[in-house]
Amino acid sequence: MTKKRNSEYQSDGEFKKCTGCKERLPISAFGIQKSYPDGLSYKCKNCVREYSKSRSSDPNVILQRRAAVAKYRAKNPDSDVNKTLLNKYGITLEEYNELFERQQGLCALCKRPETTRRNKKGDGAERLAVDHCHDTGVVRGLLCFKCNTAIGALGDTQEAAARAMKYLSGWAIHASELNK
Ligand SMILES: [Zn+2]
Ligand SMILES: [Zn+2]
Repeated sequence: MTKKRNSEYQSDGEFKKCTGCKERLPISAFGIQKSYPDGLSYKCKNCVREYSKSRSSDPNVILQRRAAVAKYRAKNPDSDVNKTLLNKYGITLEEYNELFERQQGLCALCKRPETTRRNKKGDGAERLAVDHCHDTGVVRGLLCFKCNTAIGALGDTQEAAARAMKYLSGWAIHASELNK
């Protein structure tokens, strides 16, 4: 039995009236909504699109969403970080902080604090990156953005790093001879 109050908007198998624009449209113009009485959304695809467009550009809605996110973050300040660390590197925020303290907050390679800001909106510098061995997945240490990128650019291998070292020291000898 179909509900009477909706019958005007029920599909007859071919057409259906949209609750948004009040047009009778072919049922293909409606999205599938399994939980709804006739298995189709109340609004046609066009109206749904317009609605979500107006919602996403509505300043009140944007503010509401931002406030909701901010509220969640304030309540769970580390939840995002913890999740990212666990997903990407398999370590918890606690383990990260332990490493961070052991390295005294400095990059394991250049021994400097992180200064790169990857997120322009965020204040303060990025966290040190978790450097892990790509073969074993073992976390080797925390690196600043530059060092982490440099290691990645060297292909993450000792051979390449050794070649770079040889190259640089070759030039160091050359330079000291030039300065004589
Ligand atoms: Zn419509
Ligand atoms: Zn560094």
